[in-house]
Amino acid sequence: MTLETLKQLANGPTQSGKMPVMFVGHGSPMNAIEDNEFTRGWREAGRTLPKPKAILCISAHWETRGTRLTAMEKPRTIHDFGGFPAPLYQVQYPAPGSEWLAKETRDTVKKTPVELNHEWGLDHGCWSILIRMFPEADVPVIQMSLDVNKRPQEHFELAKELAELRKKGVLIVGSGSIVHNLRQVVIQSGDFNDFNQPYGLDWALEANDMVKHLINEGDYQSLINYRTLGRAVDLAVPTPEHYLPLLYALALKDNDDDISYFNDKPVAGSLTMTCVRIQSQ
Ligand code: ZN
Repeated sequence: MTLETLKQLANGPTQSGKMPVMFVGHGSPMNAIEDNEFTRGWREAGRTLPKPKAILCISAHWETRGTRLTAMEKPRTIHDFGGFPAPLYQVQYPAPGSEWLAKETRDTVKKTPVELNHEWGLDHGCWSILIRMFPEADVPVIQMSLDVNKRPQEHFELAKELAELRKKGVLIVGSGSIVHNLRQVVIQSGDFNDFNQPYGLDWALEANDMVKHLINEGDYQSLINYRTLGRAVDLAVPTPEHYLPLLYALALKDNDDDISYFNDKPVAGSLTMTCVRIQSQ
């Protein structure tokens, strides 16, 4: 057992016996190997979370028809991106899978048929953040896919059904971005190595603030109906996959949970790295 593991155990289960829930803005895949304020934020989050029995990750980067759960013993590290420096393709995140959690999740979800999957693995929405939160890769991880046929309300209802897993030591992590519009990216210096320089276009800041305000108000219905929130959010969420993991996290918030934010900054003009932590008081 390492010092890190001891520290996590010392954090102990929360008083309520429920694991926290996270939404993580993952940004560039390079965060898997770069040292910056965001990766340090993730590391700190990992250090201060109770040690999970297993992790269920809902990543923006796994979209399917129907809902799937990875159920293999050893999920592969998927390098699902192009044009990045060679060292990023060498990175492996060898966390084990968890057939237990896959079956537990499938049985917990009653209203939606959920299929176990043995082909996928861990995509970068999942491993690029967990490699910083749990660098020892000693916590089993499974992924749940985003069903492209579901409406936001249906994703929210499905996520609610996962609540029981929090009491079984499962950390549920949604990974995406509140603001994510790759067509509007602005790198002020012109150098992609500066991708993480904090900079947000006006509409990106407005959308991020609006979403946080609605979270703080507990107005989840407006967040589910995000298509009615106006131009800033339309630009921030041109496609649903990076936004929907936020709805999964919010659906799991109980009345006795607090919400806090970290890494709450824009990068490259049109993305935000904002992370949400939901944890009982
Ligand atoms: Zn992404």
